[in-house]
Amino acid sequence: MAGKKSFWAFAMASMLFVPAMLILTACGEHKHTYSENWSRSETQHWYACTGKDCDEKKDLENHEFVWTEKKPASFHKNKVEEGICSKCNLKVERTVDNSATHTFDTTMWQSDESGHWHKSTCDETEPTHQSLQNDFAEHTYGTWTVKTPAEFHKNRIESRLCSVCGFEDTKEVPDTMEHTWTKNNDDQNHWEETTCTGHEKLIRNKETHTWESKTDDTNHWEQTTCTQHEAIKRNEDTHTWNWKCDNVNHWEETKCTQHEAIKRNEETHTWNWKCDNVNHWEETKCTQHDNIKRNVTGHTWVYASEGELTHGRTSNCGAEKHSTRTEIKIAHRYDNVNDTTCNDCSYERSLTGKGSFNALSAKTYNAGAQGVEESEYEVNEAIKSLCKIQYKVQGADDSTYTTTTPTNAGTYEVRIYCEGNATYLQGEVAKTEFVINKYKVEIVKKSSFKVAYDKAAMDDTNVQYIHLGTVHVNKGTEGLVKPVDVPIKAPKIKLSKNPGRKQVYVEDLLTEDDNFAIKELPSSDATRKATIVHYDDSVVATLTSKDETNVKWDATQNQVGITVTKVNNGTIRVGDYMMCEGYAKPLKVVALKLQYNVPTDMLVNADENCEIYFDNSSFADLATAKPILANKTFTEVEKLNFVEGKNYTNTVSRQLTKGGKFYLVFTTEASADTKTYKVNFDTNGTGYETKKSVYFFRTDGNTTVSGSNELNTKSEEIYFVTVTKVADSQPGKESVDFKITKN
Ligand SMILES: [Zn+2]
Ligand SMILES: [Zn+2]
Ligand SMILES: [Zn+2]
Ligand SMILES: [Zn+2]
Ligand SMILES: [Zn+2]
Ligand SMILES: [Zn+2]
Ligand SMILES: [Zn+2]
Ligand SMILES: [Zn+2]
Repeated sequence: MAGKKSFWAFAMASMLFVPAMLILTACGEHKHTYSENWSRSETQHWYACTGKDCDEKKDLENHEFVWTEKKPASFHKNKVEEGICSKCNLKVERTVDNSATHTFDTTMWQSDESGHWHKSTCDETEPTHQSLQNDFAEHTYGTWTVKTPAEFHKNRIESRLCSVCGFEDTKEVPDTMEHTWTKNNDDQNHWEETTCTGHEKLIRNKETHTWESKTDDTNHWEQTTCTQHEAIKRNEDTHTWNWKCDNVNHWEETKCTQHEAIKRNEETHTWNWKCDNVNHWEETKCTQHDNIKRNVTGHTWVYASEGELTHGRTSNCGAEKHSTRTEIKIAHRYDNVNDTTCNDCSYERSLTGKGSFNALSAKTYNAGAQGVEESEYEVNEAIKSLCKIQYKVQGADDSTYTTTTPTNAGTYEVRIYCEGNATYLQGEVAKTEFVINKYKVEIVKKSSFKVAYDKAAMDDTNVQYIHLGTVHVNKGTEGLVKPVDVPIKAPKIKLSKNPGRKQVYVEDLLTEDDNFAIKELPSSDATRKATIVHYDDSVVATLTSKDETNVKWDATQNQVGITVTKVNNGTIRVGDYMMCEGYAKPLKVVALKLQYNVPTDMLVNADENCEIYFDNSSFADLATAKPILANKTFTEVEKLNFVEGKNYTNTVSRQLTKGGKFYLVFTTEASADTKTYKVNFDTNGTGYETKKSVYFFRTDGNTTVSGSNELNTKSEEIYFVTVTKVADSQPGKESVDFKITKN
């Protein structure tokens, strides 16, 4: 469109004259001094240095014009504009190209290929108006339409019209001309090509062939499926064949990978019957393939027992299959050891008659196992290794059968038991019974059992028996394999209610071990008795002596003896001490005799007319002893012994009335330092007091300590104690415990 042009010459003409303001400075080596007025060029303004030959410029910039219209456009004259620099006030002018006005013919369009326009009527000549094409626009075309169709060797011509000015635009559409064509192909492709002359050969519709696999009976190949040309073959080859078969037929079959399998020579198999020990079957005899079996079936057998161990069998399969087969000596077949019947031939097996016991004699308990000896039974050799001897208590459940040989007295069932195997049945081969009798233990006539009296048991109506102790039977006695202490008991009703000496018939005693019984003695033997000495250590023994004629002196044995009217309670043993009424020295018991001069080691309650012998060393002679010992009351001295490893003795309980007394004896020990021995008892309301109830004395009867319950010594010595109840006890405190401590 319209360009803009500056006119420097015009500008110079209107330039203002500006006088130079010279400011002297040292130029060259001077400070620049600039004019206060602008210097100018066509495009720039600056302040110039006033120094001579100095080109230094300050504030150099392009002009910044502000444009205003100076002369408006008119017919054939362009518009003029004035520009003033806003900094330096330089004024310039310019004309605006193509801004002049013209006249045009708008009644008809001018056009060419570039577009359409209206033409000037200004009558001016070129070049002034050459480009004045008013209302110029590119054409507005419609669609292409065929103007002349294609023909042999001529392309189609198409045209379109401008809808504004009617300008027609035409074009030739390339490659639309017609030719004469022929089809052609090679190994890979097919195509069409021109046969016309006058130009290079043209080719179209070139494509690779499409192929498919084809077969006939002998060959396979590939063949084109293209419709454009005759079929072409390639890769033709004869088939490769394999023999194949199924249950019915055999045939040849291609194994080519190029196509589906093809069969030929299909035929049914030819078959033969065959058999082995177990089965018969049909088998092919074709040469074309490996043998095939069918109808494999176990033979049909008919069984017949050959006896206890085996059966035989013959086949019954039919003559067309094979000839009869016969097998012998085949073991019977059972489900398990309890199965009695052969699964094949129905032979019935049993253990009857395969073993037996001899008559078994009774045995007697001997504290060891006693069973059936190998010589006491017989068992068939064939099953011997499967058999064992089992025992159970007579009448017990069969599940209690055991191979453990019985020991205890009793009646037993014993059997030969076969474990069974594939041939022989499991079960009882033979059975019998035998007895292990009780061992008869002998109670020696006139022997005695010493039994501590147990008042609670004697008073308890639920207690039927009193244990007497044991009778020792040595190993070897009547076959005992080890020594045994047989516990013996007596029915309470055969005993006295109170402690004392009692004779019972041996047959009234019982053993407490069921393997033993008491050996009976003839009832004609009146001496078949044993003595039960029922002694009581819980109470103090007292007794009275007979007159002086019954005091005996034995100088050889250093003994003096008394005859006892009757023992009242308690127990007197050899070694005990007794206190004689009116005699201060304790008397040591050295021998005891029952009535009729029978020696004993123990006197018990109610023993009468018995004798006690004391150490006589405290008496000068028999004459001295007689008045002291005759017709007197004697009291047992209770012995207290220190418990092993402890500083106290056993305890005794006493229940006295006021003024009553009892005696204790104990032994002190040798020690480096003095030890204190103390009689311990409860003083609170019991009637005993530490300062009044106790005094200590020696064997010689001399009091060593009185008015105290303590004794100090470091020597070993026997000490006696008198304990007296000095007051009445409070209710419930009648029974008092006594013991001695040391420290
Ligand atoms: Zn300027
Ligand atoms: Zn147009
Ligand atoms: Zn052509
Ligand atoms: Zn093709
Ligand atoms: Zn093939
Ligand atoms: Zn076959
Ligand atoms: Zn068969
Ligand atoms: Zn059988």
